[in-house]
Amino acid sequence: MKLQFYNSVTSEKEEFQSISNNEVLVYGCGPTVYNSPHIGNFRTFVFYDLLNRVLLQNGYTVKNVINITDIDDKIIDRVNNEDIAFNDLTQKYERIFLDQSDSLNILPSTFNPRASEHISEMIHFIKSLIAKGVAYNVDGNIFFDTKEYSKYGKFVNIDDDNLSREDNELGKKHPNDFALWKAWKDSDGEITWASDWGNGRPAWHTECAVLGTQLLGESIDIHCGGIDLKFPHHENESAQVEALLGNQFANYWLHAEHLIFDSEKMSKSLGNTLSVSDLLKKYSPETLRLFLLSSHYRSKVSFSDKKLDDSSKMIDKIDRFINNFDLDTIDIDGVEYGSFHLSFLDALNDDLNTPEALGVFFDFINTINKNIDNESMTEDLKIQSKIFINLFNSIFSIINTSLSNKESIPKNIQHLASAREEMRNKSDWNEADKLRQKIESLGWLIEDTKNGQKLTQKK
Ligand code: AMP
Ligand code: ZN
Repeated sequence: MKLQFYNSVTSEKEEFQSISNNEVLVYGCGPTVYNSPHIGNFRTFVFYDLLNRVLLQNGYTVKNVINITDIDDKIIDRVNNEDIAFNDLTQKYERIFLDQSDSLNILPSTFNPRASEHISEMIHFIKSLIAKGVAYNVDGNIFFDTKEYSKYGKFVNIDDDNLSREDNELGKKHPNDFALWKAWKDSDGEITWASDWGNGRPAWHTECAVLGTQLLGESIDIHCGGIDLKFPHHENESAQVEALLGNQFANYWLHAEHLIFDSEKMSKSLGNTLSVSDLLKKYSPETLRLFLLSSHYRSKVSFSDKKLDDSSKMIDKIDRFINNFDLDTIDIDGVEYGSFHLSFLDALNDDLNTPEALGVFFDFINTINKNIDNESMTEDLKIQSKIFINLFNSIFSIINTSLSNKESIPKNIQHLASAREEMRNKSDWNEADKLRQKIESLGWLIEDTKNGQKLTQKK
């Protein structure tokens, strides 16, 4: 099956056509770094990783951005009300986000730009919108004028129900107009930047519009985020870019449904969050990852310990299956995919249908287990098994297939080796080499064999 995605703009599944032949440009809205990410945030971030891996599996290379939102009211409040410096606060939570992404086997992004490091580009962008006649100034606050942009309403019908309530108190002309720049106020303290309209700071919708166009280009293939970002954030991001440049900003918009806890969206503002750090004390990163991938990204998923226990049991079943094989001795060179492998790929190409893909993998395991029980395993079935284990793991990434005696290899070394393998798969030799050096500096040697990477501890 050809790769297809459900595009939130048309509300239909569409066959994926990339702008360039081989490289796909993807933007995902990243974390607001004022406290630790919760498992709901990671539902969305693991979905970005799934998308990335399925694109790689389809033979594309991926250039992607997950931005770091380090300018935001909640960040400013914490800095001004607690004894903590702006950079200390934001970089602490950025590091936690990156470390947890790594623990959950999320492939590194090409760019993780901090909004605060691109202010001059944002000022330039806003100036261009003013010059174009689609933005206006009210007391140093700059707003986008939705009445001057006839295509406003890409994701929603602009009727009374959808009116945005953002920044109503700042004197904007129409309810859906939105801030591009917010003038300095007392409560901002020292967090402020100078602009042609006085001191202040860029607003969130402008941060992503500028980071996306600066780092990826004027037109990108895929823009994604959690479903809550569809309106007004993505509406407003795309309105700015498209009003200014006249072209479509992103060809496909993909949104992940929410993770629910006690029948409500898990969110920092509702205070019903479970942090990934706490969950990692109880469950392995692979269990969390499998739990997040077990539901389709467009379905709501509610958190429960029972579901995590089920994921953990699934991992045990996969491990028991793998233990039937000495993977290092099975040669798969030049062997093509069989029908199970193709069904697995079809499910993923059909709008990232992970539950169906998992079902195919477990059907395969059950079939092979029967052959093992009947003592009717053949060389061909062993080869098919190794291929499927590798293929499964290139997407779900919950088993460490290329490393022998993995029990005795520390977790951080295993993660670094997996990251290096992914970099090599992406032909990013530079990054792969840096990871090799890092692994060596931690006392391990890594060797590339016909059957994958091999780690040995330095004597
Ligand atoms: P934030 O750190 O609040 O800016 O959110 C970062 C990302 O997590 C955004 O793409 C949100 O849409 C997403 N997100 C927030 N809460 C949830 C949730 N409960 N389930 C799924 N995604 C979420
Ligand atoms: Zn964004």
